[in-house]
Amino acid sequence: MPLAEYRRKRRFGVTSEPRGSTRKPAKRRALRFVVQKHRATALHYDFRLEWAGVMHSWAIPKGPSLDPKVKRLAMPTEPHPIEYNAFEGIIPEGEYGAGTVMIWDRGIWVPEVPDVAAGLAKGELKFSLHGDKLTGSWVLVRTGRRGEGRPSWLLIKHRDEAASTSDIAEDQPRSVVSKRLLFEIARDEGGNIQKAAEGDPPALVRKAIQNPDLIAPAKTSKRKSVWHSNRTRGPTGRRPAPSGSKKR
Ligand code: MN
Repeated sequence: MPLAEYRRKRRFGVTSEPRGSTRKPAKRRALRFVVQKHRATALHYDFRLEWAGVMHSWAIPKGPSLDPKVKRLAMPTEPHPIEYNAFEGIIPEGEYGAGTVMIWDRGIWVPEVPDVAAGLAKGELKFSLHGDKLTGSWVLVRTGRRGEGRPSWLLIKHRDEAASTSDIAEDQPRSVVSKRLLFEIARDEGGNIQKAAEGDPPALVRKAIQNPDLIAPAKTSKRKSVWHSNRTRGPTGRRPAPSGSKKR
């Protein structure tokens, strides 16, 4: 009960201060959610729901499933700042979570319970998502303790029009913001391309390997391709080199 202390200190028959409500937590502004595909030591999807000024977070090894029969393990992690929602890039080697982070989906979420804090405390939170990829009704439910660690949760899709047996993690592997795959983020941002590629669909990686320019780090590949095109295409007349370009 996030408002318990606030309420205990006030007498609402006397003060005109509002009693406050947790039923509609953010009527003035929608609550945000983000799913970040994270190729760290192991691939996982960081599922984050904005609540009470932070992003409550779960790491989902296999990512969300649209199939109501499939329960996806969701390990709670520490709440993240809301600003983290915009992060897509590289966490340097040796740092916590080292690897490549992709903004896989984002949008707003709407609680389907009257009291989100109570749902989080109780270990059962029903909500709907309005993202680019994820929509419809879902539940996060706590399953009890595993050994000494934090209790694990499950993310489960409810039955509705958005339910499907298709594999959305496989079918829609790109960043919702930049449309890049993990290896392309690593390539552009100076990360470990090979490690990142292990989190992309193998068929797309195989296709990319056929065009070495796609996997070469951006700056190097640009310089080389300009240099080559000036030397090889210039004499053919298809694409004359600008004057002076050979000196570069
Ligand atoms: Mn993570």
